[in-house]
Amino acid sequence: MIFLGPPGAGKGTQASRLSDACGVPHVSTGDILRTAVSAQTELGRKAEHYMNAGELVPDNLVLDLIRERLTEPDAQSGWILDGFPRNVPQAEFMDQLLAEISQPYDFVINLEVPDEVIVARLLSRGRKDDSQEVIENRLQVYREQTEPLIEFYRGRQKLVSIDGNRPMDTVANDLQSLVRA
Ligand code: AMP
Repeated sequence: MIFLGPPGAGKGTQASRLSDACGVPHVSTGDILRTAVSAQTELGRKAEHYMNAGELVPDNLVLDLIRERLTEPDAQSGWILDGFPRNVPQAEFMDQLLAEISQPYDFVINLEVPDEVIVARLLSRGRKDDSQEVIENRLQVYREQTEPLIEFYRGRQKLVSIDGNRPMDTVANDLQSLVRA
């Protein structure tokens, strides 16, 4: 499963809950990158200033990371991707990679949440890249680079839109019904 949706839509929360319920790993490129930044690995050092500015980290840094993660043993019977793909080149890479490793995806979830709700949620979260200025940039980056993926996946008939502006448990129940159906 792939989660799309703007920053603050609840992708991380929902992906993590579903991962526990289904027993498949939750793969968050944001979490992997934040861990790399904390550990000051080469990847972390290269990624840090893009993340702090709310820009996407360059594709070449992210593509290797996702290939490695999806070929690990625990990802062989499924995964829930949160934060990847983030632009059309990443989605095209994913199509190729999944064909190569013979792993299909079943659903692309578009978690829909209005802008004003997103900004309020992000401001209350207090992460380093959640200042007002950086939030605005992340939303703009989302609109320009990530939102076009909605059409990309609609064309592949895998897209399911879910209203993310409801209580967490209600959204989680909808998602569980979807995977069980
Ligand atoms: P997230 O936790 O998904 O909101 O990601 C936090 C930050 O990590 C983003 O603002 C980007 O700077 C970076 N990031 C996460 N996933 C990707 C990706 N797939 N491509 C490029 N940058 C990413």
